[in-house]
Amino acid sequence: ILTVDKAKDWMKEIQKRMFDHKDQLTELDQAIGDGDHGINMARGFHEVVAKVNHTSYDSAADVLKSAAMTLMAKVGGASGPLYGTAFLKMSLAMQGKEVDQKVFKQAINDAVEGLQARGKADFGEKTMYDVWKQVANFLQEEDVQDWHGILEVCQATIEDTREMAATKGRASYLKERSKGHVDPGSMSSFYIFEALAEVID
Ligand code: ADP
Ligand code: MG
Ligand code: MG
Repeated sequence: ILTVDKAKDWMKEIQKRMFDHKDQLTELDQAIGDGDHGINMARGFHEVVAKVNHTSYDSAADVLKSAAMTLMAKVGGASGPLYGTAFLKMSLAMQGKEVDQKVFKQAINDAVEGLQARGKADFGEKTMYDVWKQVANFLQEEDVQDWHGILEVCQATIEDTREMAATKGRASYLKERSKGHVDPGSMSSFYIFEALAEVID
């Protein structure tokens, strides 16, 4: 289901969304962080698209690996290494395989494990991890192709982060005062899955 071309298109669709929602992501991060999440995401995925557009790949796994390396190298801040890890774990799960539903589910599970190992976040700490974990949970029960369901889960989880007090990342400096705002990384994670829904069938 995920070919080289679709993996490249996924990156382009992400880039488009991060660009279009740069101000929104920045505003969310201004409320509870340092106000750079929009810039980080727009610049990071711009670099990813520049890289994958000018490279030829043998597999979708290689496209995601390239994206991961670019995010790790070019995005300062917590989100670069975290998304880099997520894409790298997905790439490793897909290595040498045709990316069907089963492989894709495994890839998401591995990405979630990677995020947890890298960020040390647990569920309910008001981070991007909440969204990824809920998507993985949803996929335990449901079909990978149920994009309506997946995106609904993302949106509900973003809303759930609003009343949480952050205990990881910069927002944790605000403690209880981080309540009342949704987590910026949960929102950018939604755009990553929304972009995927756009390209995959
Ligand atoms: P920074 O906070 O370093 O400026 P960004 O603003 O780009 O980096 O990204 C912030 C987002 O990263 C947060 O909204 C949160 O979702 C996520 N995040 C931060 N720290 C962690 C962590 N330890 N584990 C998981 N996600 C985290
Ligand atoms: Mg920030
Ligand atoms: Mg920062």
